[in-house]
Amino acid sequence: MTAIDLYARRLDGFDQRLAHTLSLLRDAAREHAGRIVFATSLGAEDMVLADLIARHRLPIAIATLDTGMLHAETLALIPLLQARYGLEVEVFRPAAESVLHFVREHGEQAMVRSIALRKACCGLRKLEPLARMLDGRSAWVTGLRREQSEARGELPFHDRDDAGRLKLNPLADWRWADVWQHIAAHDVPYNPLHDRFMPSIGCAPCTRAIAVGEPFRAGRWWWERDDAKECGLHVKRLDEAAVSSIGAHA
Ligand code: SF4
Repeated sequence: MTAIDLYARRLDGFDQRLAHTLSLLRDAAREHAGRIVFATSLGAEDMVLADLIARHRLPIAIATLDTGMLHAETLALIPLLQARYGLEVEVFRPAAESVLHFVREHGEQAMVRSIALRKACCGLRKLEPLARMLDGRSAWVTGLRREQSEARGELPFHDRDDAGRLKLNPLADWRWADVWQHIAAHDVPYNPLHDRFMPSIGCAPCTRAIAVGEPFRAGRWWWERDDAKECGLHVKRLDEAAVSSIGAHA
């Protein structure tokens, strides 16, 4: 049984949510012409957004982070997106020196030893390359949804990051069933790990399958308390003290 079989359903209001998403993307692309990027995590929601951007020819750049710890199935989506839609996907990677230094000092499994070390790993593998991705841009698009966690329950469509850029969350009110309804309707490529009970997919060492009834993000950093479960990409302020105190940055 696939994720489409399990989750795709046409819910009331789907057409309105889809139309609203497209209108938000169009408006942002017009207002931030040449300075807007879609930061795709390559998750199911983000494949929907890539599909919308490509099929509606919206002038929004597409970029992703290759942390060096992603599953092969996730990485395979980059050439697949390019081949399927003719999209150029910019790939940002962490600074090799920083990674080498961190792994030499703290080991390959540092992230499970403490929250500070896990945040430091996310800092150098995600936040620093993300800062490069956003440099010179005035707006970015994410696939965040309110339903994904309690912490995201009040997620607005229009937000601001710490640098004052527009952070557009055009799927904020989408349901999980909507995402799969769209994927099924348009034959959107998706990560086969979603068929193996991984609704939220991050780096390989920090993602596991979830069991029936577990929350959406239960498979991310599952050894930590729920309120610590953000990598910093979508929290207002990175805990800089935690990152710098262990010398994560080269
Ligand atoms: S998700 Fe895990 S492996 Fe990936 S950057 Fe964060 S701590 Fe490191």
